[in-house]
Amino acid sequence: MKYYSTRDKSLRISAAEAIQMGLSRDGGLLTPETIPQIDAPFLSRLVSVSYQERAAAVMSLYLTDYTTEELRTFAENAYGPEKFDTPAVAPLRRVDETTQCLELWHGPTSAFKDMALQMLPQLLSAALRKTGEKKTACILVATSGDTGKAAMEGFADVPQTKIMVFYPKNGVSAVQEAQMVTQEGGNVGVCAVVGNFDDAQSGVKRIFSDETLRQTLAERGYFLSSANSINWGRILPQVVYYISAYCDLLRGGEIAMGDKVNFCVPTGNFGDILAAYYAKRMGLPVGRLICASNRNDVLTDFLRTGVYDRNRTFHTTMSPSMDILVSSNLERLLFDLSGENDEEVRGYMAALAKDGRYEVSGKIKAALDAQYWGGFCDEAQTAQTIAAYDKKYGYLIDTHTAVAANVLEQYRAATGDETITVFASTASPYKFCNHVLKALGKTPDADGVALLDALHEVSGVAVPRRLAALRGKERRFDLTAEKQEMDRVVLDFLS
Ligand SMILES: *Cc1c(COP(=O)(O)O)cnc(C)c1O
Repeated sequence: MKYYSTRDKSLRISAAEAIQMGLSRDGGLLTPETIPQIDAPFLSRLVSVSYQERAAAVMSLYLTDYTTEELRTFAENAYGPEKFDTPAVAPLRRVDETTQCLELWHGPTSAFKDMALQMLPQLLSAALRKTGEKKTACILVATSGDTGKAAMEGFADVPQTKIMVFYPKNGVSAVQEAQMVTQEGGNVGVCAVVGNFDDAQSGVKRIFSDETLRQTLAERGYFLSSANSINWGRILPQVVYYISAYCDLLRGGEIAMGDKVNFCVPTGNFGDILAAYYAKRMGLPVGRLICASNRNDVLTDFLRTGVYDRNRTFHTTMSPSMDILVSSNLERLLFDLSGENDEEVRGYMAALAKDGRYEVSGKIKAALDAQYWGGFCDEAQTAQTIAAYDKKYGYLIDTHTAVAANVLEQYRAATGDETITVFASTASPYKFCNHVLKALGKTPDADGVALLDALHEVSGVAVPRRLAALRGKERRFDLTAEKQEMDRVVLDFLS
């Protein structure tokens, strides 16, 4: 199977090339030229096998230049017992008769980013072999907290790669910072940037577009690459867990083959919910895709009106991984819903770059209405939902997951739809101790990683072992830079 760009269909490259490139040179997103179809026999075969087997089976449909044997090995490395604290990898927790929670945070960094970032480095390493690339890939990441740690954990000591992470100095939680500055591995670097996430992100973008720097690095034997969710190698591993969740519902007798389920996903860059969409397009029986946002409700407005408008106030919330005004992966959805019309997509993206807004065609709007539902909740509602889940179900959920749970309630109230719905739980509550404690009505009197104990005392839920191990772990990185100095940091890192 070949891949092409959402902005240029004449391009034809292999999966390995797409993963190595990350983003197409025309600015478009690399996308499979056909969407493979699955059927009931395919799903039946997956019901009784492990998560790792399911991953290899689904991914091999898209990565035709990788062998199934390779993919099986990668899945075993990515999702094995040294990495994930449950053999189910992405288990479902039954909340009530029609509600299931898909826990995606059992990996090494306690956020759902692990599901893809334990896999991507292996796909990239193999891609370098397949394409004969001799230079070392240097992954640059700007992070609001979760991606940076998960990417370092995935890339640590992977041959022919180096990784440098920039995070906003006062913009990540205490636990997130402790996770990053204690990262092990000979090929990793971490730097705090004075400023907010946008400063870190625009600094990284500037480095990517700096031709002189690129030249200097090439002479030193490096090329720059990205682990952002625009990379197809991050979307594909996420398709797996929606199909896996369906198989688990079958196995548990919650549904019969062919029954439809809804998915409700807390959304930022539109990567996770796009993966659910691909699962639906492949033929998985899926009803409605419910897109949940926090106060940054640009996607809610878009799904309701067909107008995407980023000209609005940016809110910093307790679910920071969803604080985003431009959801990059939406471009892949527009491409698909337009009937793969690259010219139409170019038009939308040009309007977004120029005016910060665009309005989709009637055809796309109708397709969105048929398949999606968008909603958002504010900070108070998020906190109330955490408290309500604790009280009603004895289930501790994090701030991002709470947004999904709240929007799911809104959806049901608005539509009366009683279809079994799976909502995604994207982080362990222990990553956001401070806000979770406050939502439970406690005033945290500790700080840093001591908050882990404070939350444990209140909830009685075990602290994930890798987070517990942060206590007493040696701080390896202490670098802070102004945003203008970020290129210097990269040059030093790669000297
Ligand atoms: C990244 C992230 C999200 C948003 O996922 P997207 O794929 O960007 O939509 C939601 N919750 C958590 C905890 C995350 O880390």
